[in-house]
Amino acid sequence: MIAAEAQGVATKGFATHGPEAKFGPFEFTRRSVGPKDVLIDIEYCGICHSDIHQARAEWEPVIPSIYPMVPGHEIVGRVTQVGGEVTKFKEGDVAGIGCFVDSCRECPACTTGVEQYCIKGSAQTYNSTEMDRQTPTYGGYSKHYVIDEKYLLNVNATENLEGVAPLLCAGITTYSPLKKWGAGPGKKVAIAGLGGLGHMGVKIAAAMGADVTVLSTSPSKEQDARKLGAHNFVNIRDEGSAKNAVGFDIILDTISAQHDYNQYLGMLGLEGVMIVVGVPTEPIPLNAFSLIGGNKVLAGSLIGGIPETQEMLDFCAEHNIVADVEVITPARIEEAYDRTVKSDVRYRFVIDMKNA
Ligand code: NAP
Ligand code: ZN
Repeated sequence: MIAAEAQGVATKGFATHGPEAKFGPFEFTRRSVGPKDVLIDIEYCGICHSDIHQARAEWEPVIPSIYPMVPGHEIVGRVTQVGGEVTKFKEGDVAGIGCFVDSCRECPACTTGVEQYCIKGSAQTYNSTEMDRQTPTYGGYSKHYVIDEKYLLNVNATENLEGVAPLLCAGITTYSPLKKWGAGPGKKVAIAGLGGLGHMGVKIAAAMGADVTVLSTSPSKEQDARKLGAHNFVNIRDEGSAKNAVGFDIILDTISAQHDYNQYLGMLGLEGVMIVVGVPTEPIPLNAFSLIGGNKVLAGSLIGGIPETQEMLDFCAEHNIVADVEVITPARIEEAYDRTVKSDVRYRFVIDMKNA
């Protein structure tokens, strides 16, 4: 047990101090456990490509990178202490933390459970500040987190928690738009990019009953795609193969790097929708004709709110869905980053923080 005194909770993590710096041990203090707070001993934290974009300052100037940075927003751990007014959690529970840890709680987004779109700006799990706009937030590449129970998720599992951790970002980021845009029986859904998000998108869309195609640049992933639940696989760099990829109702674009939106929009059927969740570092040119012909929709989506994240966790539990993961020690964070950027991950790196 660690000291949870009035002056805060002392903890340890792994931080980077600049876009080109290496990760190293970092000691810091989380806030004391308040009446509505829960203290979590972190067991596993996934490595999302958003961690890489932010650690390497690739989203500046839109999203500034704040250093020292302890990334990580796919967090699963055990509750070790609860404040006096906490009702949803008790010591020993398994719980999850996703991409944000607080929000204004008053605006139309917050009061309708889509806190990720908080009008005043939610407090991100890391590379951000608490709602006081001063106290830095540090993420899940660390041993403990202190969080208001309102922003903490119930995890109804005690096994394979390393596979559950990525649901907290990759799971909800794919579940939310797939549900909103009607993925299900009779719908042709394409998942563009078979990485951390993409492989969750395949599993979830297949569980929703859709006909699922993977649009990939990595022909070596075809067999995996089918095992994950895809019915079809298209190597989009192979003209012959790509030419037959048409008529999709939904394309979920999880691609992390530059690519031609117009090419993918051309694969939509009449009134189809392409939802962009991947965030390349540079703007991408869009030809108006790509949307006008076929009455198409280009949409975006950001993770999901707390109620829908809980719904997704329950959906995944019911359908036996977890992420396919490669568990690493914190000493291998850089290697994992480099391999993720090269699309060489099957399909999510997860850091073992329990034994770190
Ligand atoms: P990831 O594991 O690296 O997967 C990205 C995949 O994109 C790769 O595996 C690769 O799949 C494909 N890809 C990479 N470079 C490509 C290129 N030049 N052209 C075409 N395809 C390419 O990343 P992730 O963690 O899934 O995250 C994906 C993106 O979503 C990141 O930009 C991340 O920041 C963003 N994100 C957004 C949200 C949100 O709320 N909107 C939430 C989380 C993450 P193939 O090998 O199959 O081609
Ligand atoms: Zn993420």
